[in-house]
Amino acid sequence: MDEARKVIILGSGSAGLTAAIYAARAQLRPLVVAGSQRGGQLALTTDVENFPGFPDGVQGPELMELQRRQAERFDVDFIDEDATAVDLRRPPFEVTVAGRTLRAQAVIIATGASANWLGLPNEQRLIGHGVSSCAPCDAFFFREKEVAVVGGGDSAMEEALFLTKFASRVTIIHRRDRFRASKIMAERALRHAKIDVLWDTVVEDVLGDGKVTGLRLRNVKSSARSDLRVDGLFVAIGHHPNTELFRGQIELDDAGYVVLKEHTMTSVPGVFAAGDVHDRRYRQAVTAAAWGCMAAMDVEKYLEGTDLPR
Ligand code: NAP
Repeated sequence: MDEARKVIILGSGSAGLTAAIYAARAQLRPLVVAGSQRGGQLALTTDVENFPGFPDGVQGPELMELQRRQAERFDVDFIDEDATAVDLRRPPFEVTVAGRTLRAQAVIIATGASANWLGLPNEQRLIGHGVSSCAPCDAFFFREKEVAVVGGGDSAMEEALFLTKFASRVTIIHRRDRFRASKIMAERALRHAKIDVLWDTVVEDVLGDGKVTGLRLRNVKSSARSDLRVDGLFVAIGHHPNTELFRGQIELDDAGYVVLKEHTMTSVPGVFAAGDVHDRRYRQAVTAAAWGCMAAMDVEKYLEGTDLPR
């Protein structure tokens, strides 16, 4: 496991696992540093209805398990831990994981993105005590309780709809007067008997000592303040790329996303990126998979010295 590798893939979401399948089939014997949260964001979702090949839909965790099993059919090694340091200045690149330093001629960064928080005074303190960013993980604890979801995108709709299976009432709190979510998801939420929407409203703080008991709200149009009694708050306001480890070593944009220079290659020749870690536009399971495929093909060409600049 410790010998120098042709390619190390960081991340095990749809991008990382697809890169692994392609790299393995190109006989690059990839090592995947899968992270402690294997399967990426899809492992935290529920129904995936838009991944081609699943006419009846598929559960996110199941899709990731299938992708992993597909990768395991080929010559792929996995370490289910987080990389703690990297040195991407020049090849051979170094990746430190579980106290060992691994070397590779090429690296594919597929570390994805993580949920954003609102940054409220009591939010972090109450995570795990009623504040969550993952309905599939935590909805079970809110059986017959009242919960709120903040956000107006597809994630917020998905979280709210999932929560209706457990909670007695779900209130979506959105800062504008229309959703950003796709029409089909927005309509499903708006039609649901258990879901209410508070438009033009922001959460100013989470109330509760040991556990969430309510929210302090402000209407952004009237400036009127009010309290909403809820047992849980689900934050679904988008994501940020997981790039802290690479800061100062490869070029990132203002929001922290990896900048691609030549196809999937980053500012450092030999270091490639795939999926939500650089893609702030599409951010879909299927596009992440496609980026993973492209990155693996680019690595193959790079290592052959036939295409991308070295
Ligand atoms: P998103 O589309 O960026 O939506 C984020 C939402 O949070 C927006 O409505 C935004 O409000 C709101 N927001 C952001 N910062 C806020 C703040 N500080 N306070 C209050 N509200 C805030 O993110 P997403 O919903 O996570 O979706 C990300 C991507 O994944 C999208 O491309 C989406 O299509 C995709 N996705 C797809 C599915 C599916 O197809 N089933 C499911 C989940 C996600 P504004 O609208 O005012 O900006």
